[in-house]
Amino acid sequence: MSARQLSKRIQSRRPALGRSRIRSHAAPVSADDRPSSTAAVVTRFAPSPTGRLHLGHALAALVAWETAQRAGGQFLLRLEDIDQTRCRPEYETALMDDLAWLGLQWPEPVRRQSLHLNASMAALERLQKLDLVYPCFCTRTEIQREVAAMVNAPHGPEGVLYPGTCRALTAATRTARLAAGADHAWRLDVTRASALAGPLRWYDHRKNWQSATPDILGDVVLARKDIATSYHLAVVVDDAAQGVTRVTRGEDLFACTHLHRLLQHLLDLPVPTWAHHPLICDSTGKRLAKRDAAASLHSLRAMGATPNSIRDRLHAAITESLDPPDEDLPPASACGQ
Ligand SMILES: [Zn+2]
Repeated sequence: MSARQLSKRIQSRRPALGRSRIRSHAAPVSADDRPSSTAAVVTRFAPSPTGRLHLGHALAALVAWETAQRAGGQFLLRLEDIDQTRCRPEYETALMDDLAWLGLQWPEPVRRQSLHLNASMAALERLQKLDLVYPCFCTRTEIQREVAAMVNAPHGPEGVLYPGTCRALTAATRTARLAAGADHAWRLDVTRASALAGPLRWYDHRKNWQSATPDILGDVVLARKDIATSYHLAVVVDDAAQGVTRVTRGEDLFACTHLHRLLQHLLDLPVPTWAHHPLICDSTGKRLAKRDAAASLHSLRAMGATPNSIRDRLHAAITESLDPPDEDLPPASACGQ
């Protein structure tokens, strides 16, 4: 079955999701909340070339692809290759080969995050001028020690949060340590940034309007010690640069979207809408990882899988990802967490 046929099959099973549906659930929308583009839908799949793609990646890629196909929009591929110690050229070649094998097409040249670090650095400078970031000199061990000594260490959706140690440093100490060339990351002062931004909302096509709560992630790193950026900063800068209007991605990144919405506001970037889809889990209920070699497209292809058999295997998950959930149901959770 071709992508277009699959798209038609999925389309025939669901009512159209029109603008009226979006509006009908929302309180009056401020200019800042409103998705900023009325142009064609642009989606992207943005893997890191650090291993072989597996079924979970295939789902993410197909959801982005189908979303664009259904809307008559465009699907883009981006390589999130900022971590040069883990990325490998052979994985780039392999992932593009797997995606082409699945029947996906994308315009060339593919955007490589590593070639656009200057855009991320400009974004960081803007946040520095707004006094919304601070240098963090902590090592991982120091953070662990500090957290262990706390009675009530702050926790987020993925565990312990950074305790804010370096936020409390005096300007003189910061200047002296920077002048001495001390290794440092740059962290967002999320309390200060949220106060400056005021209330923000974002729209998820499966879970409706969300009030942004970026503080649940704490003072995240926006520029790593070893790289002039981070996933969070690069992803919002690159999505804006590529004109992405609909960010489709796994539910594991749902919490991050609160932060990304805040960064878009602070950096005056266009605001896309999001569609977070369920994750593919293994037989024990754990989400697939690149180390699960058995689920890699490479292994499945070697065992005789065809593009159609992969699409059929993922059909229910793709359909669920494209459909809005029944409003009486609680939000779907990722892998039963
Ligand atoms: Zn620190």
